[in-house]
Amino acid sequence: MSSEKTTPQTETKEFQAEVKKMLDIVIHSLYTEKEIFLRELISNAADALEKFRHQSVMEQEVFDSHVPLEITIEFDEKANTLTISDSGIGMDRGELEANLGTIAHSGSKTFFSKLSEADRKEVNLIGQFGVGFYAAFMVAKKVSVKSRSFRMDDMGHEWLSDGNGTFTIAMCPGIRRGTSITLELTDEAKEYANEATIRRIIKQYSSFVPFPIKLKGEAINTVQAIWTLGKSEISEEAYAEFYKFIANAYDEPLTRLHFSADAPLAIKTLLFIPKENFETMGFGRMEPGVNLYCQRVLIEQHSKTILPEWLRFLRGVIDSEDLPLNISRQALQDSALVAKINKVVTKRVLKFLEEMAKSEPEKYIEFWKNFGMFLKEGVISDFAYREETAKLLRFESSKTEDGVFTSLAEYVERMPEGQKEIFYINGPSREAIENGPYIEAFKKRNIEVIYTLEPIDDFAMSHLGSFDEKKLVSADRGNLDLPEAPTETEADKEKAQSEAMDAKESETLTGWMKEVLGEQVKEVIASKRLTDSPAMVVNPDGFVTSSMERIMRASGQGLQQFGGKNLEINTSHPLIKGLAGLKEKDGEVAASVVEQIFDNAMIQAGLMVEPRNMVARSYRILERLVGK
Ligand code: ADP
Ligand code: MG
Repeated sequence: MSSEKTTPQTETKEFQAEVKKMLDIVIHSLYTEKEIFLRELISNAADALEKFRHQSVMEQEVFDSHVPLEITIEFDEKANTLTISDSGIGMDRGELEANLGTIAHSGSKTFFSKLSEADRKEVNLIGQFGVGFYAAFMVAKKVSVKSRSFRMDDMGHEWLSDGNGTFTIAMCPGIRRGTSITLELTDEAKEYANEATIRRIIKQYSSFVPFPIKLKGEAINTVQAIWTLGKSEISEEAYAEFYKFIANAYDEPLTRLHFSADAPLAIKTLLFIPKENFETMGFGRMEPGVNLYCQRVLIEQHSKTILPEWLRFLRGVIDSEDLPLNISRQALQDSALVAKINKVVTKRVLKFLEEMAKSEPEKYIEFWKNFGMFLKEGVISDFAYREETAKLLRFESSKTEDGVFTSLAEYVERMPEGQKEIFYINGPSREAIENGPYIEAFKKRNIEVIYTLEPIDDFAMSHLGSFDEKKLVSADRGNLDLPEAPTETEADKEKAQSEAMDAKESETLTGWMKEVLGEQVKEVIASKRLTDSPAMVVNPDGFVTSSMERIMRASGQGLQQFGGKNLEINTSHPLIKGLAGLKEKDGEVAASVVEQIFDNAMIQAGLMVEPRNMVARSYRILERLVGK
């Protein structure tokens, strides 16, 4: 660093070469988020206050010990200036020179290592690494830093620069302890000498700075950063007030999770689950609601990277002192540290929900009804937490009352010996499922079936694959391996035998039905499962359930990939038995009846059929019935 003395008190000095380059970029860049300069200066002020607090405990004597620890913002709309003052640790002559004339901090060091690789005019670099104090030059044509150290022997100095290569340092006696930075704003940056703008920026970035930030004598940052306190220090009211602030909410949260950890990461976290799910209330997709802080200073609002997308219903704060303050959005996305925080907090949230399900089951169900869809989304989209999330799933089943939920673990507990798989079936409602063909065989064997009532459910089940080493199997799958019905007596069996067609007859009938239906089905089979309904469609390969197929078709995916269906017919059913006879008498009408049976079965599977054909056909059958 070269220096040349003008007067004994005023020295003109050159910035370190790296600082010159940086200032050149800062001043000439078109970086859009210029307002972060205020966050940088306020965070420096807060650091200086924190350092002072620390020193004042250790030192015998500090200068201006009575001055309150605070940050003051003043502005002059006419003169176009903005002043940020603090009563912090201050800087003596040497510190002013070293701290503001060279690249001191880690953020700008990284900036430099990147700068040599990239184009010097690369605007984004500012956003990527932050430029700390030098950010002031994005909005100011001249910066004055008056500072006086806490040490008793300092007199006070003024550092002055227009950012063009040099700065001066002069004596400035008679000032108070701390630092006062005055920005002479450029014409384009006039807006920052405006009260409303200043207020907004401070509220956005610096609400939780632990020292009062005063504007016109009034502290703007009135909300305490309660996540940094111990639980016992926080009242219920304070939690509720904080929630309203951070979530922009009017009501109280359903519940909260407040924890801190030192290893493997230093994090302090306060998360809330709201009462309502606005996503299901037609307000569109929810934005993530957790903010990332470093030592109470905002790094990223509504961060998309700090938690998985499927936890976007959470509101609150994650604070990690391990994060560099100057980190940018782009750098955050690539940060291994952020990925680590994400993992630690996600696991903690899942554990919290599991505990809540045990200790407060009613509250958990309230949560589940509102936010269960997000956990299902997690099961589908996030392999890493699938096992933990699966424990949190809840469904109705054939063994629960209407509207009552069970977990997969409870289902497994109830499984009788010999049952190896977990069965589920999708339907639009409990009634529809219970009156449909698919659960007949299960009812008879007293095997529990989970009811998946939401379109997303079968995707979740299929992604999950198994639970507690038991395969999850949809009841609309072909060739289910079910044990013999336990209640069947010899007499029952005989009756069923006598009612059913003989093997030959049934083979002829199924063969003919396959001919009638053609490519619409893979096979027509005499069912071993059906007892009451005449027919049902099943999926022989069992990978895609009918409910999934319906959704995939609706989203425009081709039919060929679904591998075809089997039609199972109940050969003891009067309709099917009658059909064999009708076929001999009137082949044409019998064929229409077959088509109609198939369409009915498709409807019961929740799959759309072409209504025009179906209606015309059913009229033909009805005409025949009334004797035309
Ligand atoms: P960082 O805050 O990351 O260290 P900055 O560029 O923001 O980097 O600031 C550089 C240095 O200048 C700080 O580390 C600090 O030593 C000093 N400094 C800046 N502002 C103040 C202030 N208001 N009071 C005391 N020292 C300050
Ligand atoms: Mg800083």
